[in-house]
Amino acid sequence: MIKKIVCTALPLVFLFSLILPAVSVSAETDDHIRDIEETVIEIDGLTEKYDFLHITDSHAVVVSSNSSSSYYAHSVSRYNQFMSQEPTTNGYPASETLEAMYAYAEDPANDIDCVWLTGDNIDFPTTTNVNFITNLVNNSPVDHLYCFGNHDWTFPDDYFTANGRSTYRPRLTSAMGGNNLYGYRDYGAFLVVIIDNSENYIYYSQVADFIRNTIVPKNKPVILLCHVPFYNSYLASYARSVWNSDETMASPSNTKYPYNASTKYIYEWATTNTNVKAIFCGHFHINYEGYTGRTPIYITASGYSGTMRHIVVKPTSCTVHTWDEGEVITPATARAGSLFRTCTTCFDEEYIDIPPICTFGDSDGDGIVTTGDSHTIRQIIGRAIAADTDAVFYASDVNEDGKINAKDSLLIRKVIAGVIPSFDAN
Ligand SMILES: [Zn+2]
Ligand SMILES: [Zn+2]
Repeated sequence: MIKKIVCTALPLVFLFSLILPAVSVSAETDDHIRDIEETVIEIDGLTEKYDFLHITDSHAVVVSSNSSSSYYAHSVSRYNQFMSQEPTTNGYPASETLEAMYAYAEDPANDIDCVWLTGDNIDFPTTTNVNFITNLVNNSPVDHLYCFGNHDWTFPDDYFTANGRSTYRPRLTSAMGGNNLYGYRDYGAFLVVIIDNSENYIYYSQVADFIRNTIVPKNKPVILLCHVPFYNSYLASYARSVWNSDETMASPSNTKYPYNASTKYIYEWATTNTNVKAIFCGHFHINYEGYTGRTPIYITASGYSGTMRHIVVKPTSCTVHTWDEGEVITPATARAGSLFRTCTTCFDEEYIDIPPICTFGDSDGDGIVTTGDSHTIRQIIGRAIAADTDAVFYASDVNEDGKINAKDSLLIRKVIAGVIPSFDAN
């Protein structure tokens, strides 16, 4: 049996461009908000669409004369820093920007099901800052998931200390729904899971009590939220270029943070398991979309810069069709849009960055496989047009030999003419 996929609509690469403008952005979006990144995640088995708002690294500071004198000066300094730090500021206080983002989340037009707060939501845990964030998230009618960043529970003079763990972490437990190590929401066909990795590693109880005993047995697709990005080579080199230190989690070259068995377990589970559909994190203050292992990883830039990410989780636009080895694909079925490979086949053997492509052979991206595609391939070979995206490349390389050449063009014509039953028969 060969698993194939039938796209019921246009291929994914085109769906993205069609769907994205439909993500509703309130016409009255506050000018604190400078950038709304938009991400679509497709999950099999969903019957409805969900909307989420990812806000990270807001570093909110509320200046209060009630703060102890040492932290009062620090509060003023950081409050001003985030308001004036070019080019990453929007010119407003970070706490105001976070409130504006919450107004977006609460606007019924934006239909947000849950706000994902992946740490550094406050800059340090004075009572004033803790009260600000706790009131904001707990008094909102919109659900939220909140994990620590390295900032939420530390002061610069009390950083990653035993005292910090016992004194400051509990201050935010109420904003985290009663558990400051992990949490999740079950949306029926998928889970959104949040886990604290603010110290660049994972605690044993997070694996034993939570992931292994609670999440894995549910055997559902997972969207994973945390603060520190999971290591991949691009992020590691980015971190080294900016901080002179690899600040990713589970970096093989890092000796700064413990790389314990729990960290390894979570890293492997999240980056090799097909159930984990995406990881959303922060900490780096940049927008990033890539892969760690086979899992898409998204970093959203700092909240104080006015950036947030609106995520739409929707039913997959492809339905799986399985047919037998000898089943003949006729020109008619090809035209009807049935000549596809699975969106995930390309992930089976190698961990390489490939966008999800439904349509194998659809070089020109019009959603159907026709002689027009073999013409497009000949143009690519003749360099009249460029195969300048991974999507075009993988759609065109139908015999999967890593090259786009006359063999691919010929194969498409043979399949369309019914001379051979499928691309697998080459
Ligand atoms: Zn941060
Ligand atoms: Zn951070």
